[in-house]
Amino acid sequence: MIIVVKPEASEEEVDHIIKKIKDLGLQAHVSKGTERTIIGAIGDEAILQSVPLEAIPGVEKVLPILKPFKLASREFRKEDTVIAVAGASIGGRRIAVIAGPCAVENRTLMVEIAKGVKDGGAQFIRGGAFKPRTSPYAFQGLEGEGLSYLAEARERTGLPIVTEVMDPRDIELIAKYADVLQIGARNMQNFRLLKEVGLCKKPILLKRGISATIKEWLMSAEYIMSGGNHHVILCERGIRTYETETRNTLDLSAVPVLKKLTHLPVIVDPSHAVGKRDLVAPMAKAAIAAGADGLLIEVHANPEEALCDGEQSLKPAAFKQLMKEMRLIAEAVGREL
Ligand code: PEP
Ligand code: MN
Repeated sequence: MIIVVKPEASEEEVDHIIKKIKDLGLQAHVSKGTERTIIGAIGDEAILQSVPLEAIPGVEKVLPILKPFKLASREFRKEDTVIAVAGASIGGRRIAVIAGPCAVENRTLMVEIAKGVKDGGAQFIRGGAFKPRTSPYAFQGLEGEGLSYLAEARERTGLPIVTEVMDPRDIELIAKYADVLQIGARNMQNFRLLKEVGLCKKPILLKRGISATIKEWLMSAEYIMSGGNHHVILCERGIRTYETETRNTLDLSAVPVLKKLTHLPVIVDPSHAVGKRDLVAPMAKAAIAAGADGLLIEVHANPEEALCDGEQSLKPAAFKQLMKEMRLIAEAVGREL
């Protein structure tokens, strides 16, 4: 249920409403908008059937949330959510670009690539220290050592870090280094992991599962949010279809669909979607035109020698050129880059 608070309600009245909801065994999630405060009463709604919520002082009206995802829905929050991260933000007028290698490979290379993407205008650096590889024999990532190289790259560039977490046991360590934790496509429905990152204070970049519907994806966001972490960024990275010319099929229609269904920021990862370097730029531009709040782009100083995803990685110079071209598209759709 959504409880719309009267504009003139006092803080004590708001606290009292929250207490009532909690006493009923439900979760109370407060969303303070520019005009209104809304309280989501989340849990078994049958409990509310016999409770006259509208009789509580300060309550203006009570509305059901019809969607299965509650906290993630537009009904719960009308305004777009803007997530502030270490001096940067995702979800506002400015398009956020996250760039870097697929995997952290060594200190020198990580710092070099970070400097390159900063020079190109990226606001975040990325790099996997824990890698979800299809083959157990492929490079699995440098783990803790990789995290320290990311931290060094952040020190040298001032850019915040996005990196993947695959296992609840690694959350504590990764959260010490990362500014944003990424949940990869393969883990989108790892519900234990989602619940655990829901308890974490860092923003979560949630990639769409390889074969996930938009509704399933939003239910996964709901898992994280119901734990108390409302800072979720959705990332479309292509889905599996019958088409084999590209690594996946980039579902750009997910962007406007999500904009209707949710207040959460939506970004696009054209690199993992297309899997081929020459297709990254057109799809990155199309993503901005479709209304994406940001992009995740793989960049490597020497893609030929990359330990992971070299075939889809741009060199820093190509990334810089793409940023220039994307600026024109951003301007045309009333955004900044
Ligand atoms: C990645 O971003 O490095 C990655 C593994 O992506 P995905 O989970 O989308 O395959
Ligand atoms: Mn990759």
